[in-house]
Amino acid sequence: GTTVVWFRRDLRLHDHTALSKALSSLEKDDSLVALFYIQPTLNDTFTARHDYYYETLMKHVEKCEKKGFPVHFVTGSLEEAFHQLQNQLPDVDQLFFNADETGGGAKRDQEVIDYFHSTSINVFPCIDHTIHGATEVKKQDGSLYKVFSSYYKQWQQLDKPSIQQVDLDKVKEHAIDKRDSFKRGANAYQKLMESKTGKWKYAGEEHGLERLEDFTHSKMYDYKKKRDFPAVAGTSMLSPYLRTGAVSARTVYYTILDELGDQANGQGPETYIQELAWRDFYNMVFYQFPESKDQELIEKYRDMDWNQDDELFEAWKKGETGFPIIDAAMRQLNQIGWMHNRLRMAVASFLTKDLLMNWREGERYFEEQLIDYEPASNIGGWQWASSTGTDAAPYFRIFNPTRQSERFDPDGDFIRKYVPELKDVPKKYIHSPEKMPEELQEEVSCEIGKDYPHPIVDHSTMRKRALELYKEKG
Ligand code: FAD
Repeated sequence: GTTVVWFRRDLRLHDHTALSKALSSLEKDDSLVALFYIQPTLNDTFTARHDYYYETLMKHVEKCEKKGFPVHFVTGSLEEAFHQLQNQLPDVDQLFFNADETGGGAKRDQEVIDYFHSTSINVFPCIDHTIHGATEVKKQDGSLYKVFSSYYKQWQQLDKPSIQQVDLDKVKEHAIDKRDSFKRGANAYQKLMESKTGKWKYAGEEHGLERLEDFTHSKMYDYKKKRDFPAVAGTSMLSPYLRTGAVSARTVYYTILDELGDQANGQGPETYIQELAWRDFYNMVFYQFPESKDQELIEKYRDMDWNQDDELFEAWKKGETGFPIIDAAMRQLNQIGWMHNRLRMAVASFLTKDLLMNWREGERYFEEQLIDYEPASNIGGWQWASSTGTDAAPYFRIFNPTRQSERFDPDGDFIRKYVPELKDVPKKYIHSPEKMPEELQEEVSCEIGKDYPHPIVDHSTMRKRALELYKEKG
């Protein structure tokens, strides 16, 4: 028979659960087919994330081709796509894929399972995207956690899944090429490729693995010390690769452990592994609360009287708030589709506590702009910052954006990189340029109110209003 491996957000050929399991199931005369489904509406909303994903997809398709494992494309509605598959490959008897446990992907996977239920095709959804799946880390009574610290204790206790080796010789041996019968899909793929800009040169498995090597060889020991300073490239920047599956989370985990060996100084690596556990945690939270993209997890905050102010929102989006660190962060997001974690917390806090705007608006804007957009982590991050999540920042602990700036970008290097209007502003004023005396503004060619805005709100006033807004809810 023919076994199909359906690629999705797992665009790699190393440590791949679905492919590895499919290979183990093959008998001597069985054929193997690589599949990719193109949803016709995929291109209706073309964002940086789509662009980045298509680049990764192209690299993956090319790599598969090189390894003798040509990718077949199907398109149309899910049902039409499966008809194409069954018509063109009548002896398909197994379908393997790495399942989504949350969001739209989980719904689609259920449709797939339902569709094939009454056919002779066996479907094998695999857990692959996280180190531990959403239901693997449980309390003694079998229920799921709501608080990270106790989740993490349990997470650490569990045996970790092993690397899912992919024998590329075996892939080549069994792979078949029936692409001539899949013209419609091939055209749809061509269209995707034409729509991408090609600007994401570093997308894909090869670059992702290089970045991982680079991080584990040098930066990871200082991770704990440097991870909070956006001017220093102290974090791994692996999130876009984890999102597209160009690098597997298990591989990241084991590469770190291997590099560490029995060295005692494990603080950096330990903190890093804890971040991977946060990723698993938010996947579990979203699994547990599928409505959390639209609903505050804490009930009493469900009908907050958020500000609706297009002008303020635009200023936040564009990075024109007059708070240099917030502006630099938003411009980083707009320019490179990625933002440093410390700054994601700062801008999310700013939107919800200084502008008193609905966190959903911010969550959606991140969805449009981030190349690493991961619904579970993004919703988790936003509900954390807006104090509405299961294990969130308490509402009364409000970030002071200027203080954040002084602490985490002390010399203002990050600010100057992304807010060129401020490039000549001396360190003394870089966090509050509105305080520059007029002569100095002239000297550094940065007139406040003209070249760079006055702060759009007064932090201490807004802080008080935020406290009232939340307190009112009990
Ligand atoms: P590193 O510090 O090198 O961490 C390694 C990996 O651990 C990351 O790649 C990521 O997969 C995981 N990780 C780290 N921190 C977190 C965290 N707090 N929650 C979940 N996973 C984490 N992360 C996303 O991948 N996609 C998102 O859409 C996303 N949205 C966020 C929104 C807000 C408001 C906040 C506060 C955080 C968000 N995060 C999101 C988490 C975090 O900011 C990013 O994962 C991190 O900045 C990615 O950079 P890195 O790979 O250099 O991280």
